[in-house]
Amino acid sequence: MTAFNRQIQLAAKPFGVPKESDFKLVESPMPEPAEGQVLVRTNYLTVDPYMRGLISGAKSYQKPVRPGDLMVGGTVGRVIKSRTPGRKEGDVVVGYWGWQEYAAISGDHGHLFDTKLAPMSTGLGVLGMPGLTAYFGLTEIGKPKAGETVLVTSAAGAVGSIVGQIAKIIGCRVAGCAGSKEKIDYVLGELGLDAAFNYKDTENHLGQIREACPAGVDVYFDNVGGTVSDAALLKINQGARIVLCGQIDQYNATEMPTGPRLLFQLIIKGARMEGFLVNQFVDRRDEAVRKLAEWLKSGRLKYRETITDGIENAPKAFIGLFKGENIGKQLVRVAKE
Ligand code: NDP
Repeated sequence: MTAFNRQIQLAAKPFGVPKESDFKLVESPMPEPAEGQVLVRTNYLTVDPYMRGLISGAKSYQKPVRPGDLMVGGTVGRVIKSRTPGRKEGDVVVGYWGWQEYAAISGDHGHLFDTKLAPMSTGLGVLGMPGLTAYFGLTEIGKPKAGETVLVTSAAGAVGSIVGQIAKIIGCRVAGCAGSKEKIDYVLGELGLDAAFNYKDTENHLGQIREACPAGVDVYFDNVGGTVSDAALLKINQGARIVLCGQIDQYNATEMPTGPRLLFQLIIKGARMEGFLVNQFVDRRDEAVRKLAEWLKSGRLKYRETITDGIENAPKAFIGLFKGENIGKQLVRVAKE
């Protein structure tokens, strides 16, 4: 064990797409667990698009991260010292202790992760927050039925890749939108989607959606927003459900974005657009993890992780999300298991 705890702090509030200089690596003293706490060593931390909102200082459902603050975020690691009866050395904990190598956390922080289900990294991905977002967003907000058409944006990403596969399991026709040929090949070849298009190939997204969804769109699971969403709204069917999961197209906007546009389509199609936060479903985590793990075990659900090594590279990995560098869940490996 090193004598110091390396952490990443926010150095400056970013303008537009964040830069590596907006973050700094600092050394702080090794934390000591107090009575009732455990010392955890981080194996993986996750970088997620929502963090862009937190570091903008905007008021949100979560406390903003200000310059000089530790970067917050999901983490998974092992207990290396315990001062509470509920947790023992070696336990794998999924929590929220931020971008740092070690943390002294309360004995009831986060939840234990069962590595018999899958590797611990999945506690931040397919069996963690993104997996739950896909599961509840699709089944509870989108409510797709067999035979319907589902269109998902950022289809090769952490959430989108799971949404597409669950929709296939339900028996839907599924089309995906992503930003590179490699991603299109992945969603068609490995994930088994029925159709997919690269939104960077042309500005004619309406033409792309028409081709990918010849029977129109019954459930539009949107991770992105922007011009693809405009086109998708023009192809929704009567009674369609639009799941507003994310709007990454707007997260780095330096001016107030235009829209939402074309909402008259909801009127004429009697359609519903509904936003949600995965936190709404936190009480049902066990149910989702059980189901997702069952699908993983049977081979019906696949996942991929893009892993960046070293806590010092966490800012780079985070910024990569806005450049489309990840396939599946983007993680940072802080220490080997
Ligand atoms: P992803 O793994 O999908 O990674 C982000 C991807 O977004 C990139 O790889 C890139 O893929 C795409 N992207 C980036 N910038 C743009 C842009 N300007 N226009 C179009 N696509 C872009 O991230 P997650 O799966 O973690 O998150 C997906 C979305 O879901 C995000 O919007 C996020 O905020 C939201 N979310 C919402 C939750 C909720 O509770 N509602 C919970 C978790 C996530 P590409 O190469 O295809 O462009």
